[in-house]
Amino acid sequence: MQFIDHYLKNIKDLGLYREFKFLTGPQSKYTSIGNKRMLLMASNNYLGLCDDSRLKEAARAAIELYGVGAGGSRLTTGSYKLHEELEKKIADFKNTEAAIIFNTGYMANIGTLTAMADKEWIIFSDAFNHASIIDGCRLSGAKIVVYKHCDMEDLREKIRIYPGNKRLIVTDGVFSMDGDIAPLEEIVTIAKEHNIFTMVDDAHGTGVLGENGGGCVEYFNLKGQVDIQLGTLSKALAGEGGFVAGSSALITYLRHKARSFIYSTALSPATIAVSLRALDIVKNEREQRSKLLQNAGWLQQELRKLGFHVLNSDTPIIPLIVGDPERALKLSEKLFEKGIFITAIRPPSVPQNTSRLRITLMATHHKEDLQYFLDSLKEAGTDLGII
Ligand SMILES: *Cc1c(COP(=O)(O)O)cnc(C)c1O
Repeated sequence: MQFIDHYLKNIKDLGLYREFKFLTGPQSKYTSIGNKRMLLMASNNYLGLCDDSRLKEAARAAIELYGVGAGGSRLTTGSYKLHEELEKKIADFKNTEAAIIFNTGYMANIGTLTAMADKEWIIFSDAFNHASIIDGCRLSGAKIVVYKHCDMEDLREKIRIYPGNKRLIVTDGVFSMDGDIAPLEEIVTIAKEHNIFTMVDDAHGTGVLGENGGGCVEYFNLKGQVDIQLGTLSKALAGEGGFVAGSSALITYLRHKARSFIYSTALSPATIAVSLRALDIVKNEREQRSKLLQNAGWLQQELRKLGFHVLNSDTPIIPLIVGDPERALKLSEKLFEKGIFITAIRPPSVPQNTSRLRITLMATHHKEDLQYFLDSLKEAGTDLGII
């Protein structure tokens, strides 16, 4: 198959070839790759709960009671009492009437957008939205109107150009590769003015933003004002799965219409048990959350002092922009040699010429860890002529 050989050669030439790094330890601030201890600086495990003993215990207990696989899809034999409990708990956490669990955040976006919209619809989508939103929009067959990243004037203009009574605005809550927060208050205001539905994918805000960790909607005090709140159980909540929270009618509708929900085996009871316990823990991790955000603010400042180009962020996601993909890769390799694991993010995950290290913090990082990271970055950045 020559076209495959050509493709692979081409991405190698462009510095876009990707390889796995296999962990041999848990997803915690110190992990290992092979026999080498690594400081992890790029995980979505924001609260450091992936290796938490309480969550491991919850998984073990569920396995003892229910075994391992779920054995069926949710609408056949795969719905356990635990799924019902978790859906209630998510609704509570997100301050909505109801919620529905999907197997991943990716599947939640695909299933929800295709259930919501068809070719009669117009979807206004932020230019930096996550790939799963983009794919869901495309699959739905709706007219997709992309507005400039977080640019409310552009959104208003496009809403004016594309009238209709079946319209949806969809945005990341926290942008996954940039770490900035969507201007949700304004989006909600605009949507109300024009009678447009709203959908927020808060994969990275969930567990991180807001007093109780409820995410962007809680952070902006917009209870009841966003129609569709999507999130993941796989980031700060340290497990796996995605969900949608909203009105009872919306959730019942998705149960009947979302194909990625209907035609897939349910998440295993142990996975659900982990999320149930994680939600209890996360609500009470206020100190951890504020420490996480404080550390992120401090690290950004220090990086700028060293001369790095760092985007503004109010979250634990700190993008250090390098530009050229091969240089970004070299920087991550140099850090790897120093025992720091942080992957280079290159196109197509981010736009051309914005290859970067996507630094993310965990609440478990100490100042000494961050200082070691800064010292190593300074050395590697100087070697490569980045600073
Ligand atoms: C990670 C992510 C997803 C996908 O969630 P998974 O549970 O990993 O499939 C969806 N949307 C956004 C914004 C994300 O960052």
